[in-house]
Amino acid sequence: MIKVRIAPSPTGYLHVGTARTAIFNWLLARNQKGKFVLRIEDTDIKRSSQEMTQSIIDSLKWMGLNWDEGPILQCDRLENYKKNAEELIKTKLCDFCYCTEEDLKPRKQTALAEKKSWKCDRPCLKLSPDERQKWIARPSAVRFFTESDGKVSFMDKLHGELTKDLHDIEDFILMKSDGTPSYNFACVVDDHEMGITHILRGEDHISNTFKQIIIYKAFGWEPPVFIHVPMILGADRSKLSKRHGAVSVLEYRDKGILPETLVNFLALLGWSPGGDREVLSMEELISEFSLDKLGVTGSIFDYQKLEWMNGEHINRLSDDELLKKIKDCIDVPNTQHFSEYPVSEIDNELSKKREILKKFISENEEYTKKVIALLKPRMKTLLDMESYFFVEPTEYDEKGAGKYLTQEGKQRLELLKTRLSELTEFSVENIEAVIRKIAEELGIGAGLLIHPLRLALTGKTVGPSLFHLVEVLGKERVVQRIEKTMAWIK
Ligand code: GLU
Repeated sequence: MIKVRIAPSPTGYLHVGTARTAIFNWLLARNQKGKFVLRIEDTDIKRSSQEMTQSIIDSLKWMGLNWDEGPILQCDRLENYKKNAEELIKTKLCDFCYCTEEDLKPRKQTALAEKKSWKCDRPCLKLSPDERQKWIARPSAVRFFTESDGKVSFMDKLHGELTKDLHDIEDFILMKSDGTPSYNFACVVDDHEMGITHILRGEDHISNTFKQIIIYKAFGWEPPVFIHVPMILGADRSKLSKRHGAVSVLEYRDKGILPETLVNFLALLGWSPGGDREVLSMEELISEFSLDKLGVTGSIFDYQKLEWMNGEHINRLSDDELLKKIKDCIDVPNTQHFSEYPVSEIDNELSKKREILKKFISENEEYTKKVIALLKPRMKTLLDMESYFFVEPTEYDEKGAGKYLTQEGKQRLELLKTRLSELTEFSVENIEAVIRKIAEELGIGAGLLIHPLRLALTGKTVGPSLFHLVEVLGKERVVQRIEKTMAWIK
């Protein structure tokens, strides 16, 4: 049975790159009826935090990537790494190392100057028992001694056989002097003990994999299958980073991207179901996923495409489902409260909007449903609902107002107010008929009524179909807003 894992380090929010790795692993497990493990690699104590562990868990849960085992915290397994390191020391392939970074610095610099990978000159191995006794009081690391000759290689399912000269691999640490394992050591011990069959991760780990293969060999353990997927790139084809835009999963949640969109979108960065199908449900992704369709070239994270895809997923939802998703979206605490991200103006805008929506939806659910039905075909995010549906406009588009909110415009608004308030059935058809009738009476184009009315109702010059907008807002709001605008015109 296939068993895979995602092993994030809680040193930051869940990055979309790690999220994509998690998605590939999860899809593989679900497609193959295997197991998916969540392991938190938190041994870098200084850089890890519980807050980040929690936010990673929240991100995975939000995307619907459920796990069968875990979360397993590496910090709960420190004794285990120690025990395994002690076992390995017996093979003489590694040993305690009492050198401090300061001791090593000048020695490493020589290797660097000669453009060689640093090999430890192993003074610790040459200590006499007496000297060792003296040194032993120092905290000790466990260092692996790599050979100077020969090669290390492994088969990668995407890249074929990958090989590196041992000469180019430095003597690396297995256990640090503070008693925590290095990433490579803990990773191998865990992957072996947890019975991981396939390791699918980013290409940036290839250099680690060579070291990990060396550790597998030292233990005499069978390595799993390795699949290194290309990195996600920004528009300029460099590795995706904050420079390119939002990179944390929770930022997308907060912006109103649906979890199924993000999973769909990220799954297509490096994988394709074939054909030109792009909008896939979770079920479709699971049933179609296979390693054979992974690509070897990096894929570009296209923010516009993500929004387009979100619009497609939004349109697949019923109005009730969409309302529920919107409620979920505005209910979550905003990620911006964490310190890592500076609060941008967009975040401020979004957060204001969430507050407005939150209050409004809880009081006017039926009305919100009508707004949703009107906007759904145009919505790109869950928060893509103009505030004027919920609060009166406080200002009018300057150019539009100059043109339409004039004395003449005021008279037209007055007429619109009277006739619209006389309607007993406030339906799109009746609203349209009233407006067309007034235009006819005044001998003007309907545009000269539609523009000032739109400005009065929304403060803007563009938006959804006006007749529908008037119907959704309802008679009371419409009359009130026209009056307010007329007073504004004076
Ligand atoms: N903690 C590592 C990371 O977040 C895990 C890499 C791996 O999958 O082995 O990059």
